Amino acid sequence: MHKILVSGCLNGRPIRFNSTNVSVESEIWDRWESEGRLVPFCPELAAGFPVPRAPAEIVGSTAAVVLHGRGRVKEDNGTDVTDMFVDGARLAAQRAGAEGCVLAVLTDGSPSCGTTYTYDGTFTGGTVEGMGVTAQLLHDHGLPVFPEDRIDEADHYLRSIGE
Ligand code: SF4
Repeated sequence: MHKILVSGCLNGRPIRFNSTNVSVESEIWDRWESEGRLVPFCPELAAGFPVPRAPAEIVGSTAAVVLHGRGRVKEDNGTDVTDMFVDGARLAAQRAGAEGCVLAVLTDGSPSCGTTYTYDGTFTGGTVEGMGVTAQLLHDHGLPVFPEDRIDEADHYLRSIGE
């Protein structure tokens, strides 16, 4: 049975930077959970960040550039946390590989887990298209990544590869 890497905060744990979670209302998700497919993982906690923690954004760059060592992730107080974000991404990729995950469903907008957008690095609420650092690395490793509001698309992909 194929497994699915999922953002840890989608599984009810209040582990986002502001001590909240993201609720998922989906029969598909409930089925996956009952089938034992879900592999919850939080790259930021794995990298050693606490809860709560300062908000962080990819600043003036993209996740791909960050992973190539030329872009930065910073907290709103200016602290450079790039290395921890890259560590978290690598740990997520390792976990996905060890568990045999075939896709990932991740919390959109996060500088780690975003799959369609992230915040724009100005800490003013603006967004840009693109992925977070973990989502980008998983994508680069060939793992399809989906945001939490496209679970039906993720399930369609799962069925297309024989569940
Ligand atoms: Fe959720 Fe990902 Fe942020 Fe962890 S890093 S709290 S899993 S969005």
